[in-house]
Amino acid sequence: MKNMSITELRTLLKDKKVSAKEITEYYVNQIKVASDVNAFITVNEKILTEAEMADKRISEGENLPLLGIPVAVKDNICTFGIRTTCASRILENYNPVYTATAVENLIKAGAIIIGKTNLDEFGMGSSCENSIFGATKNPHNLLYSPGGSSGGSAAAVGAGLAPFALGSDTGGSVRQPSANCGIVGMKPTYGAVSRYGLVAFASSLDQIGPMTKTVADNALVLSLMQGRDAMDMTSIGTKTDRKKITGLRFGIVKEFTEIEVSPEVKASLKKAEEALCALGMSPVEISLPHLKYALEAYYIISSAEASSNLARFDGVRYGRRSENYGNITELYKASRGEGFGTEVKRRIMLGTFVLSSGYSDKYYKNALRIKKLIEKDFEFAFEECDFIISPVTPFGPKLLGAKSDPVSTYREDIFTVPANLAGIPAMSIPWGKTEKAMPLGLQLMGRKFEEGLLYSVGEALEKGGEF
Ligand code: GLN
Repeated sequence: MKNMSITELRTLLKDKKVSAKEITEYYVNQIKVASDVNAFITVNEKILTEAEMADKRISEGENLPLLGIPVAVKDNICTFGIRTTCASRILENYNPVYTATAVENLIKAGAIIIGKTNLDEFGMGSSCENSIFGATKNPHNLLYSPGGSSGGSAAAVGAGLAPFALGSDTGGSVRQPSANCGIVGMKPTYGAVSRYGLVAFASSLDQIGPMTKTVADNALVLSLMQGRDAMDMTSIGTKTDRKKITGLRFGIVKEFTEIEVSPEVKASLKKAEEALCALGMSPVEISLPHLKYALEAYYIISSAEASSNLARFDGVRYGRRSENYGNITELYKASRGEGFGTEVKRRIMLGTFVLSSGYSDKYYKNALRIKKLIEKDFEFAFEECDFIISPVTPFGPKLLGAKSDPVSTYREDIFTVPANLAGIPAMSIPWGKTEKAMPLGLQLMGRKFEEGLLYSVGEALEKGGEF
């Protein structure tokens, strides 16, 4: 069952070759066997009972698209009855009173939650090392990081501990770990999936995305998860229907070619160009003139919104309350001081600064202007081409504990943050290897609501990704 896709598991279930209970037992056991990977924070205690219930429904003739299929959910997505920690001390024992709409939609399609996966605290990071539960390891080589922040979800699918998972992507957190763990990860168009129940990091950039073994699985999950939700006024939904791909024009971003990447990353992009040409598509050089400001804009906007979103964790209503206080101010200070980790504190301080009076025009408002300009850059580019290809990260998976200063780490988000700023869909598919045989990804970016086109191209490329 290890490398089975959702589609394959569904066929086995339909043909009564295996039961949902057997599938679940298999994965629960694998999670134990691969405990070194540390992909999960919490395993759902009721999963076997839920699998038995799914079997009952199957035997009664129900035929939902995910009936009896386990899903691993990133631990910043609320699940009723299963604690949701955000990998933070401040929410260590938080039990949500509701389930996120995206998860609810999958449950309606028959899915069962196998557990909650590890992440960088509140989604802030790219290595899955900023977690109070310890780092997640890359299943392809335990000395490497799976990437972040949805590292637990990527490692779970990559290691065969769940057939699919959900992640969240604010600046690359679905795509980067998917690339590092050799799986398919989609950040949908902003508004495609409801954010209700996703613990907010940066509300204007956050999206929940599927992380799967195959492109077809990814499209299936997104089609079931997307949609307008009355609880999230920015949600609209999207389509995943496949498109004809011959004759399409793919964009190569001029400004990206000037960024330093490893020789393998460079070679893998070349290989993608060749593969796309062989499929009857043609390359076009495009320019995104405001890309040079993307990282600055992203880190200003995301930190500003985080500082505001995380203000609610004050020890009064949600999460951990310190025992060391004499008055209300000390209660806030001690609860937040003890509850948040270093990276989260850094973002809150940066965000509070860029929003403070006298500075917000200079930093936050200007960053919003750049966001708009980058969105426009993509609109112009998509007049010349139908989709854009790029690397996902400049150097591929990193060794665990590879220390570097925060700004250098932020710089490595250069290929992924533009899609969040522009609100466009972007997917990573497995594409080549590093010289140490670690997985690399290829990013495909498309026009808003054209996930279907990306899936069509991704499916055509998929078989060629092993080199
Ligand atoms: N690495 C980025 C950050 O630390 C992306 C995080 C994300 O997408 N959640 O902000």
